[in-house]
Amino acid sequence: MEILTIYPPGGPEALAFAAAELKDYLGRMLAGEEGRWTVELVLEPDRPEENDRFSLSVTPEGGRLIANRGRAALLGAYHLLRRLGCRFLAPGRGNEIVPAVPRAGLELEEAVTASFRHRGVCIEGADSQENVLDFIDWLPKAGFNSFFFQFKIPYTFYARWYHHEGNPLLPPEPFTVADAAALCAEAEGELRRRGLLLHKVGHGWTGEALGCETVAWKPDGKPLSQALASRAALVNGRREFFMGIPADTNLCYHNGEAADAFTDLVVNYAAAHPDVDYLHIWLADEYNNVCECEDCRKTTLSDQYVELLNGIDRRLTERGLGTRLVFLLYQELLWPPVRARLQNPDRFVLMFAPISRTFQRSYDLEAPDTAIPPYVRNHITLPVGLAENLAFLRGWQGQFRGDGFVYDYPLGRAHYGDFGYVGLSRVIAGDVKRLRQMGLNGYMSCQELRAAMPNALPNYVMGRMLMDETADVEEIIDEYCSAAYGPGWERAKDCLSRLSELSSPDYLNGKGPRRDAAMAQRFERLGDLCLRSRGELDGRSPAKDAVREGFWTRLECHLEASALLSRAMAALARGEEDRARGLWEDLRDLICQRETALQPWLDVYRLLEVTEKYTGLGPLKQ
Ligand SMILES: [Zn+2]
Repeated sequence: MEILTIYPPGGPEALAFAAAELKDYLGRMLAGEEGRWTVELVLEPDRPEENDRFSLSVTPEGGRLIANRGRAALLGAYHLLRRLGCRFLAPGRGNEIVPAVPRAGLELEEAVTASFRHRGVCIEGADSQENVLDFIDWLPKAGFNSFFFQFKIPYTFYARWYHHEGNPLLPPEPFTVADAAALCAEAEGELRRRGLLLHKVGHGWTGEALGCETVAWKPDGKPLSQALASRAALVNGRREFFMGIPADTNLCYHNGEAADAFTDLVVNYAAAHPDVDYLHIWLADEYNNVCECEDCRKTTLSDQYVELLNGIDRRLTERGLGTRLVFLLYQELLWPPVRARLQNPDRFVLMFAPISRTFQRSYDLEAPDTAIPPYVRNHITLPVGLAENLAFLRGWQGQFRGDGFVYDYPLGRAHYGDFGYVGLSRVIAGDVKRLRQMGLNGYMSCQELRAAMPNALPNYVMGRMLMDETADVEEIIDEYCSAAYGPGWERAKDCLSRLSELSSPDYLNGKGPRRDAAMAQRFERLGDLCLRSRGELDGRSPAKDAVREGFWTRLECHLEASALLSRAMAALARGEEDRARGLWEDLRDLICQRETALQPWLDVYRLLEVTEKYTGLGPLKQ
């Protein structure tokens, strides 16, 4: 059947893209039918702060898709395809189920408004350009509307992949900052084509204000220039790069020259990059690295931060720039300012980043209110408890009532500790269901883009829940598993659920004592379960569909790797550190050998980094 699309000329590029996608997918789904089918795409624009919204009216005679912006039309197109049975199971067009449908099956009346304004993913891990482009293509299929490139140039994420950091079996490829800039520009073009929102930078401003091009969390190789040293924070009596790393070095914000340099960088960047929808203004990464000079001690870092943001806002206003600025509640900045207040709240978006939280439970809104602990300069500890994390958010919300979203990490680090992904998916769904009550209008997931071993269920659940906070996570889990594994999917779901029950994301992420007899026993049982489940899959008949066979094969491989990791953690929890390291090195050998086959699914660099740095299995022998 021939699919015709009608849409107004001169509209947003995303509208034309949505029309082309409908033509392509429906053309394949209705290939067995005769005649023509026409769909009309209509824009009904409303205020920019309104959430993405679309309505669909589809019959065997024709269809109409009305949307409030180009991106919403694209979301509506994918929504229709999903209602007709398409399943976008993971980034990459090879990982989709596109069924044949009869013309008579074209029936749908539905109006959808996204539950939240901000629904995005932020780049982490080690990524090839194919990984980035596939992810961007997948975002609106999964219900997301935003993407975040960290640093001015996201060099470090690309370089980790092209240099094959962490995998000695793959020879490094040449890759430069200029290469990263070119790849990022191409990827931003793909975001624009789909009308997706672009977030940028966050990390790196302080390093740049100290005269270093900052595109990674790496030592600069050169000492801080004497001419700029007075701009750096005074820590332990010295003004120098914190642990040698510019991105982790704070400024002496009392120093007007330092604050001016920071402000100039932001204003010039905003002027040169009008395509950036949300520009993130963060201070140094790491914590307990704040200036100890006499003047800085008279105030708090958060007060200095707010004054800096007010200065940037004034300069942007003078230049006639409407760039939205995102400010961050993280580490020292979790403590609300004492005196300073944002003067132009409409300019700003609050971002709450509970990086140290537990991932074994959703945000706890029922716990009794906890007081914010006193702020002690360069002697803070990060809050683990959910109630304590939320106390900081409430403190800030008492002063700032503007737009805001959470920046969270279930798929950056935590997911490696849930071997079944079902438990973590439920935690994510529970978190999303609490966002509105927390006074937040969305979610940015700081995550590996290759977070799909054994499948992309947690990301899928996240996107769907952010579109519809009332959705039932159990239905989404069944929808996903039945599509990914096909006939016999209940067996896969059952295996994944049991893996989740015995897993401990918190132990893998370094929370709790390393020696723990109960944990040792639990990981022994988890290892046994992995091996037994792997054995039960021996001799199974291959799935008829290549997409599904891929999911089964990766489940088998995942069980083998997870058995080794479980045993390594059991040994660690028993205090047998050498044995733990031996098993972990076996795991490394296995996943490094298989990385080429598993590239889009498993981020070998990041799994090894997390288990080395946080679990306590390191250091790795080179
Ligand atoms: Zn100072």
